[in-house]
Amino acid sequence: MHVDGNAIGGMLNHVFGRDATDVSGRCRECGAENYVGALLVYRAAGVVVRCPSCHATLMKLVEARDEVWVDLGGFLGSGLEPLGEARIHVVHTGELVDGDAEL
Ligand SMILES: [Zn+2]
Repeated sequence: MHVDGNAIGGMLNHVFGRDATDVSGRCRECGAENYVGALLVYRAAGVVVRCPSCHATLMKLVEARDEVWVDLGGFLGSGLEPLGEARIHVVHTGELVDGDAEL
């Protein structure tokens, strides 16, 4: 089961300090261009955002306590930059982002 990117608009607002759902970017795998609001969102230990065309992972977000781990490695050209706050950590594709939240 998935929802669309609008479902995590509030979470993205906290991470980017703006409404990110109307920002578009490009899938690293297939090159499809989509608005964040049109991406597929899966919730597990964290949030996984996938390309609606090829299902590649575009973003991963994990919230633990007051902190957020963000991986934007699969979503190119969006210009989105996580806020430079101590509670927001930027990680890269494939890394373990939390002890119990490997995506
Ligand atoms: Zn794709």
